[in-house]
Amino acid sequence: MNTESTEIVHECQRCGACCRWEGDVCLTDADITAIADYLRMKEVDFINEYCHLQRNRRGLSLIDAPDGACIMLTKDNACRIQEVKPIQCRDFPFKWNFPGWEKRCPGAKCKNTPTS
Ligand code: SF4
Ligand code: SF4
Repeated sequence: MNTESTEIVHECQRCGACCRWEGDVCLTDADITAIADYLRMKEVDFINEYCHLQRNRRGLSLIDAPDGACIMLTKDNACRIQEVKPIQCRDFPFKWNFPGWEKRCPGAKCKNTPTS
C-alpha cells in the first residue's frame, strides 16, 4: 500500500504579507541594541520613536504604520532593517508559527512524499 505524508516547505516570496498581519513584532533587548545601532540612533530615541508596549505589557514591540503594517516595512515590501530584523521575524516560520499559517503565507507549499 502506498501512502503519502504531507510536509510543508517554505520559500519566502518576500511579499511582505506577514509584516502586515495583526499582532506584535516583539523586540528583545538585543534586538533594540542592534536596531538602534543600525539606525544610528540612541536606544532611548529609538524606543521613543519606534516602540510601544506589547499588548501583554511584558516588553516592547515595533509600532505600526498608519496603514497597520509594521513601521519598518517599505513601500516596496522590503524590511528597512533587514540586516538586523527582530529575532521574531528571523525565526518565522521555522522556529515558530501558528495554526493555519501556511494558508496565509504565499511561500508555504505542501509537498507530498510517498512513505511506502
Ligand atoms: S508572508 Fe510568507 S512569503 Fe510573504 S514575506 Fe512573509 S514569510 Fe515570506
Ligand atoms: S521588522 Fe521587518 S521583517 Fe519584521 S515585521 Fe517589520 S518589516 Fe517585517
